[in-house]
Amino acid sequence: MKKIDCLSALELDDVIKSFNEQSFRSKQIYNWLYHNNVTSFDMMTNIPSSLREKLAKEYQFTYFEEVKRLTSSDGSIKFLFKLEDNQHIESVLLSDGNRISGCISTQIGCRMGCKFCATAAAVGFKRNLTVGEILNQVAVLRKSAEELFDEKLLNLVFMGMGEPLDNFENLKKALEILLDDNAFGFSHRKITVSTSGLIDGIKDFFAMETPVNLAVSINGPNQHIRQEIMPISYKYPLKDLINTLKNVEIDKRKRITLEYVLLGGINDSLSHAKEFCQLIKGVKAKVNLISFNGSPFSTFKTPSEENVLQFQEYLINNNITVFIRKKLGQDISGACGQLAAEYKGAGR
Ligand code: SF4
Repeated sequence: MKKIDCLSALELDDVIKSFNEQSFRSKQIYNWLYHNNVTSFDMMTNIPSSLREKLAKEYQFTYFEEVKRLTSSDGSIKFLFKLEDNQHIESVLLSDGNRISGCISTQIGCRMGCKFCATAAAVGFKRNLTVGEILNQVAVLRKSAEELFDEKLLNLVFMGMGEPLDNFENLKKALEILLDDNAFGFSHRKITVSTSGLIDGIKDFFAMETPVNLAVSINGPNQHIRQEIMPISYKYPLKDLINTLKNVEIDKRKRITLEYVLLGGINDSLSHAKEFCQLIKGVKAKVNLISFNGSPFSTFKTPSEENVLQFQEYLINNNITVFIRKKLGQDISGACGQLAAEYKGAGR
C-alpha cells in the first residue's frame, strides 16, 4: 500500500482532487502529517470521517518504531529505530550544552566504504530510506528535544548512516518538506547535508531551489592518501572534487564546510596540513577538524592532541577558518563514523 507520509504538498493536492474533495482539505492533512506528525488517520480530528476512510483504503503510515535509546554522559541521545522490513537505523540528538542538533540517517548502511567508518564496516549497504523514514526520524527527535530538553530542535545534520547524495531524490523531497513553513518549518541555514564527495550529487544539490548547507569530507591532503581512506576517490578524484567546489554557486552568506578526520600517523602531520591548505585555496570554505574517535571496526589510531593543535594552527596562520569539532555522544557510539545500528555488535 502507498504511504501517506511520503507525499509532498503538490502530490497531496492531486490525491485530494482525485477524491473530488475541496482543496483546503489537502492543506489540513499536510499540516497534520508534517506539523503535528500524527501517526494515524483517526488523529486528524478536523477531517470528515468519510475522507479519512477513503484515505485509509489507499494509504497507510510508514512503520517506524523506536526500540532503544542510549544517553551519553554529555547528554546526547542515540535512538535505534526498527523499520517495516525489520532493518534498523540510528539517529542522534546531539547536545553540546548550548544547542541541540539532530543527526539524521538517509540509508540503511552505506556503499561508500570509507575505511574509518563503522557504518560501512558493520552494515555494508542494505537500501535507501524512504522520505517517510527520513522525516520520521526528525519528528521523533523534535518531540524528544521538547520533552527532554524543553527546547525546540532547530538544527539538523545529515551525517548519520548513509551517503545522503546517494539517495538524492528522497533527500530532496524530505528537505522540501522540512523547509516548508506549513510543514516542519526549518531554516535552510540550520540544515547541513554531509557528503563523501559525489560530484554529480553536489551539482544536483546546488541546483535545488533552496540548497541548505553542504559539508564535504575531504580527509586526505592528496589523491594518494584520500583514495586509501575513501575509495570513492577512485571514481571522483580529489582534483575534480575541489574544482567542482570552487565553481558551484553558493549563497553569499554561506560557506562549504570541509570535514577532515585526523587519523594518527596517516594524515595528521604538519606537511599534510601544508598540502591540505594548498589544496583548498580558492574554495569558499571553513574547515572542521575531527579527531578520529576509534572504532572496533578500524585499525586507525586517534591522533595526538599535539598534532591536532599543530594542524589547526597552521590553517589559522594561513587565514582559514577552522574549528575542532567536539566529540559528542562518543560513549554511546553516536559520534561521527560510529553509527552502525548495532549490527554485528557495533553498538553497546
Ligand atoms: S563515512 Fe559516511 S559516506 Fe563514508 S562510509 Fe561512512 S556513512 Fe558512508
